[in-house]
Amino acid sequence: MQIEKYTFGVGDRFARQAKPQLQACIAAAGEGVEVIPTWNKSHREHLTVGTRPRTVRQAADSAVKDLDWNKPYYVDADHINLDTVDEYLETSDFFTLDVAYAIGRPPDTGAIDSLVAAHPELVGSISIDGIDEPFETTREDVERSAGQFLFAVQEAGRIYRHIEAAKGSGNFITEVSMDETDKPQSPADLLVILVALAGEGVPVQTIAPKFTGRFNKGVDYVGDPSQFSKEFSDDIAVLRHAVATYGLPGTLKLSVHSGSDKFSIYDAIRAGIRRFDAGVHVKTAGTNWLEELIGLAEAGGSGLQLAKDVYSQAYAARDALCAPYAAVIDIDSERLPSPSEVNGWGSLQYTAALRHDQSCPDFNPHFRQLLHVGYKIAAKMGERYLGMLNACEESISRNVTENLLSRHIRPLFLTPWT
Ligand SMILES: [Zn+2]
Repeated sequence: MQIEKYTFGVGDRFARQAKPQLQACIAAAGEGVEVIPTWNKSHREHLTVGTRPRTVRQAADSAVKDLDWNKPYYVDADHINLDTVDEYLETSDFFTLDVAYAIGRPPDTGAIDSLVAAHPELVGSISIDGIDEPFETTREDVERSAGQFLFAVQEAGRIYRHIEAAKGSGNFITEVSMDETDKPQSPADLLVILVALAGEGVPVQTIAPKFTGRFNKGVDYVGDPSQFSKEFSDDIAVLRHAVATYGLPGTLKLSVHSGSDKFSIYDAIRAGIRRFDAGVHVKTAGTNWLEELIGLAEAGGSGLQLAKDVYSQAYAARDALCAPYAAVIDIDSERLPSPSEVNGWGSLQYTAALRHDQSCPDFNPHFRQLLHVGYKIAAKMGERYLGMLNACEESISRNVTENLLSRHIRPLFLTPWT
């Protein structure tokens, strides 16, 4: 399996919005860009909602059938490791090997020395096409990078071989993710990581480094977009260099785990992929759950009431809901509206506070982030919630499709180059 140039991570908490997500890809195809949907759901989400991996496969398959999508699509076992992968082997054809937890662990004795000995070209001045200044590295720099990342890469090898033994080589897409960590990986680190992945025999087709800046859940990028832009572009150059030099798959591309809605770096991503004619994988599944709430609120009546109830329960349980996400949210409790205030809102006030339109004066990123992590509340409501999704299908579908198309796909892939 060879990954297509542009792939896009979709999916939603309750596996009900596969069709409107696919509609966005169909509309994009009509506008001239092929964006391949990749339904992903992390193990953490499955645990929180109480769903099984096969529900993602079923939702994807039936959307594809109902809408006659005749291009490829994938079901991604997102952020799995050796402990969690088995449940996903049957229904996934795309695996995101999460080895961030293994960064910094010491590799086997002698592994660093053998890597440095096998790759003397990593020490000294390394000129890479597309990067202005050559990397100047010492033996100590390479040893330091290898010390940080080699064990994680070996762990990726162990997970990869486990999947390969079950599914057969070439029958799935391999992504390696190192994004869920605090310290960004530099382009020079990335080169060492790729050299090690090639040595480990992992046919990685997309890789998610930790980029510079904060990728908080549900809200925009926090950081310097111009610094991100240089790093993103240098990373693409490093990938091309590694493909040409170390025999990694020619399809290898960057994966951006956006945590939803990093609009202020979309220009940089678009510029980078156009400059190098490169592909990209962007994961932004979390945004769809919030569009579901917007659709409920927009429907008014009992849909709006349910959206309000989700908020008041999330507000009451905010400490517990936020705890697992502490590293990736920034909520100022003072800025959260009280449940009684929200209960007095109409559809327009609720959707204006939640919809990710930063130009709208009523947009409230604190309200949005709390609801982003508040899906456990909806999961607990069970049939009451799921039944309302059916009742409000029209407004939900419209918002899910429109959000993906106009706020994500068009800015990333279709905005004219200026
Ligand atoms: Zn990630």
